[in-house]
Amino acid sequence: MREDSYIPFSTPDIAEAEVALVSEVLRSGWITTGPRVKEFEAAFRAYLDADVEAVAVNSATAGLHLALEALGIGPGDEVIVPVHTFTATAAVIAHVGARPVFADVSAETLVLDAEHVHAVLTGRTRAIMPVHFAGRACDMPALAALAAAHDLVIVEDAAHALPTTCNGALIGTLDSAATVFSFYANKTITTGEGGMLVTGRRLLAERARQMRLHGISRDVFDRYHARNSSWYYEVVAAGFKYNMTDVAAAIGIGQLQRAWSMQKRRAEIAQRYSEAFADLEVRCPADPAPGDVHSWHLYCLRLPAGGPVSRDEFVAAMQERGIGCSVHYIPLHLHPHWRDTYALDATNYPNSTRAFAELVSLPIYSRMTATAVDRVIASVRAILKSAQRPAHDGRSALPGARDGAVPAVA
Ligand SMILES: *Cc1c(COP(=O)(O)O)cnc(C)c1O
Repeated sequence: MREDSYIPFSTPDIAEAEVALVSEVLRSGWITTGPRVKEFEAAFRAYLDADVEAVAVNSATAGLHLALEALGIGPGDEVIVPVHTFTATAAVIAHVGARPVFADVSAETLVLDAEHVHAVLTGRTRAIMPVHFAGRACDMPALAALAAAHDLVIVEDAAHALPTTCNGALIGTLDSAATVFSFYANKTITTGEGGMLVTGRRLLAERARQMRLHGISRDVFDRYHARNSSWYYEVVAAGFKYNMTDVAAAIGIGQLQRAWSMQKRRAEIAQRYSEAFADLEVRCPADPAPGDVHSWHLYCLRLPAGGPVSRDEFVAAMQERGIGCSVHYIPLHLHPHWRDTYALDATNYPNSTRAFAELVSLPIYSRMTATAVDRVIASVRAILKSAQRPAHDGRSALPGARDGAVPAVA
C-alpha cells in the first residue's frame, strides 16, 4: 500500500489564508492572547448573530470547566451527563468537585433526551450537559422545559456542533447558561487546540474571562497596551491557564470564514454515503430534523450485531484497504475510571452499550477528494458483500478476502 494512497480518518482543512494569518501574528511581536483573540471572539459573535458573549479558551475542556466554575457548581451538586460522549464532558464535573451522574442516550440519535435526564434526576441535580453527538442537535426545547421545571442550568457540549441548528436556531444562540465549542485538530473548524465558551450571561462571561487567565482582573494585552498602560494588576481568584493564543486565534479567524463551505462538503459526502449504503445490512446515521443543519462532524455507521461482519472485523478490513476509521465512543461506563469510581453497570445504559458494539465512524472531512469518497464507498460495499457470501469452500469469507477488493487509487 503506497503511503499517498492511505485515506486517513481525519485531516484538517488548512488554507493558505490561515498560513498567512499565522505568519502575520508570528512577525507582529505579539503572539499570545491579544488583538487576534479579540477579533476571533468578535467574528464568533458575528457568526452566531446573537446577543451573546464569546470567550476564547485553549480547549473545549477548559471552556466547560470554566462554565461549571462560573455557575458555582461544586461539592454536593450533581450534573447529568450522557455516557455516550468523550471523557472530557464528565471530567470537568469532577474537576469542580461535583458528582457526574450518567444517563443513557436515545437508541436512534445517540443524544441525551429528556426521558434519560428524568430517569436519573435527584434533589441534588444542578445542571445538565447535553452533547450534540456527531453534529446532530439534541431536542433542546424538551431539555430546556425540563430544566426550567426543576431549576437546572444547561451547559451544552457543542464540540461537534459548528454549524448545527435546532429548530432553525444555531447551536450557541439558545437560552442555555453556556455553550462550548471545540477547535481540536479533528473538529469541524480547528485552531490546533482551542475552544469557545458562549453565553448570554454577562457575569458568567466576566468570571470566565478572569479565570481563564490566572484570576487576574485585566487581561495581559490590556495591561501592556491600554491607554493608561500600567504594571498594576490584581488577582481576584485562584485562576487557571486557559487563555487562547493569538497564533491559534489567527487560524480560527480563517477557519470560521469557511465553516459553512466546509459543512456543505461534509453534508455532500454524508448524503453520498447514505445513498450508497441504502441496500446494505447497515444502519446509516439519522438525518437532522427536517429543515435543520447537521454539522456532519462524524458519519457513524452501524453494523448490526449478528450481521454479516462485526465492527472490529470491519475496521480491520478497512485498514487493510488503506482507510482509517474510528469509533465514537467507547461509552464512559466502560472506561475503568468512571465505571469503578461511580459503580456504573452497563445494563443501565442499554442504548449506548448496544450502539458501541455496532458503531464505526467513516472518514468525512472537507478535503476528501471525490476519488477518496468513491474508494470508501466501494470498500464498505465490498467488505459487506464479501461477508454476506456463503463460504462454499469452508474458508472464511470475511473482510480480508481479497476477491472483490478495490484496487488502491493514488
Ligand atoms: C473533542 C471533544 C471535547 C473536548 O474538546 P477539546 O477542545 O479537545 O478539549 C469534549 N466533548 C466532546 C463531545 C468532544 O468531541
